[in-house]
Amino acid sequence: MEPYRVKVVEPIPILTRAERETAMERAGYNPFNLRAEEITIDLLSDSGTNALSAAQQAAGALGDETYAGARSFFRFRDAVEKLTGYPQIMPVHQGRAAERILFNALLTPGQLCVSNTHFDTTRANAVLAGATPVDLPCAAAADLDSAAPFKGDIDLDRLTALLTGPDRDTVGVVIMTITNNGGGGQPVSMANLTAVSRLCREHGVPFFLDAARFAENAWLVIQREDGYSEHTPEQVARLAFDLADGAVASLKKDAIAHMGGFLALRDEALAQRCELMLTATEGFRTYGGLSGRDLEMLAQGLHEVVEPDYLRARASATQHLADLVNKAGVSIVEPAGIHALYLNAGRLLPHLPPNRYPGHALATELYLAGGIRCAELGSLYLGEEDEDGNMVKPAPYELVRLAIPRRVYTQSHLEYVAEVLAEIAQHPERVPGYRIVEAPALLRHFNCRVEPVRD
Ligand SMILES: *Cc1c(COP(=O)(O)O)cnc(C)c1O
Repeated sequence: MEPYRVKVVEPIPILTRAERETAMERAGYNPFNLRAEEITIDLLSDSGTNALSAAQQAAGALGDETYAGARSFFRFRDAVEKLTGYPQIMPVHQGRAAERILFNALLTPGQLCVSNTHFDTTRANAVLAGATPVDLPCAAAADLDSAAPFKGDIDLDRLTALLTGPDRDTVGVVIMTITNNGGGGQPVSMANLTAVSRLCREHGVPFFLDAARFAENAWLVIQREDGYSEHTPEQVARLAFDLADGAVASLKKDAIAHMGGFLALRDEALAQRCELMLTATEGFRTYGGLSGRDLEMLAQGLHEVVEPDYLRARASATQHLADLVNKAGVSIVEPAGIHALYLNAGRLLPHLPPNRYPGHALATELYLAGGIRCAELGSLYLGEEDEDGNMVKPAPYELVRLAIPRRVYTQSHLEYVAEVLAEIAQHPERVPGYRIVEAPALLRHFNCRVEPVRD
């Protein structure tokens, strides 16, 4: 059960099917265009959508808004230092700002940025810094149904080949995403991180973590990896940070907050280059684009997120939803992680080819049938079409991500989600496909308009 009780509530809108149909039509059948008052259960993202604790609210009231040298900065710095052990700590307004600052200070054009899987903004910031992102997911990740415990790992053979092959001098950084968000929210093992750390040291390559979900990764290590069952989440997280030269983190995830991030590292000269850019583009080094209030709430959130009772309840809520979804006959990316479930829409809707966007079709149906908002990770997001709109390269899988905000929804909310999905799964053939009406060239899943087709 949840190790907290409800103190403040916010009503959630419950619409009729007719109202939802009108809303979806107005939104061009794009869930990103819906308004909050049209949504019953919002599973679009776990980023910045978390519920604060009373202790975080109280800490926020102590926020020190002094321009430079605020007390709140030192509380934030101490919390990040206690967690990571890194001596150089910079607050930023969110994770992508840390990525941009680090990559511009660390990478030179033409270098490779190597990862288990880059998150979207990490990839974009590597490209903007002139580097080429390279993803090396482990082989087990390709089998969605496999219950392998650490499908977020990097492929060590391919990493070794890269670091010893003809391109070895072009590798500018290895950045491991924990948990592997782009790879189905799967965890990375300590064994894998240890091997990456050793390889990077041997070959003189900087090794960083993208640590947005450091606590959730630690929890899954404790559950799944030999030798860690007696560790605390804090200890496992610290061992992971110890292996790297530094980390970027979006604190909109595992600081259970609404806004924030950090860039933390060991190398003083690199930190100085980053700090110049921080001051020029985010804010002075003691606030980095955040208010004192934010810094206080983040420091408190970093303390709360490593509590075993919290992590146990969150992991078992996701597992409970996964069990109900499986019982309804819907496949997910196995095994269930913590921050999200990834539904295999391609398998549920075999009558829809990639150019009818089965992931998008299922996401839209979840809204129309139950007011549940979520987004596809399939061919609408990743597919490539020629100039006439013919699909030339579909996405490898047609998935729908149900992201679970922290401390926001109860078990009965999640059971409602499973019920709506089970109803859809009874007659999947009734779910129509979609066709693109209007789409910008870049980031089209955010901005496109589509319409249902029945052909
Ligand atoms: C959210 C996220 C980011 C980007 O962080 P923002 O705070 O959204 O800028 C980077 N990496 C991972 C793994 C993330 O989940």
